[in-house]
Amino acid sequence: MNLFRKSPWIIHYDGASCNGCDIEVLACLTPRYDVERLGIINTGNPKHADILLITGYINEQSQPVVRTIYEQMPDPKVVVAVGICASSGGIFRDCYNTKGGVDSTIPVDIYVPGCAARPESIMDGVVQALDLLERKRKEKKTRRRAIAPTPTSEVPTP
Ligand code: SF4
Repeated sequence: MNLFRKSPWIIHYDGASCNGCDIEVLACLTPRYDVERLGIINTGNPKHADILLITGYINEQSQPVVRTIYEQMPDPKVVVAVGICASSGGIFRDCYNTKGGVDSTIPVDIYVPGCAARPESIMDGVVQALDLLERKRKEKKTRRRAIAPTPTSEVPTP
């Protein structure tokens, strides 16, 4: 894995769910798993976040919220769908108010399986997200260099 430029910050949003995966995400923050020792911070502000961790499926009410959080996050960013509800709608897929998994609304980079997703799987998903985030940062840097105007040594005379 690459070295990271900065500690990754995460924002967690729980869509419509049974809260099972939500509790497992919180378990990652407790002393037993303690993701903060890896420099990972759970922030409440999308403008400070690099990784969006979503549990639960998308419904009519949560759709605009998820879209807004995603749009407010600075580029590059990574989205992790945690649990089968976030991945596909899960057991709620055929409910009258279900839009589907998170990818029905925003692009998802990493899917974490499980019902509920175990803390070890969630942490594994986050580690994959860190690697992807670093790759996206490098790609963005390369793109920026490619479109930057080349300095001209000669100033054209009128
Ligand atoms: S995947 Fe399972 S545990 Fe997680 S929110 Fe859905 S039903 Fe609950």
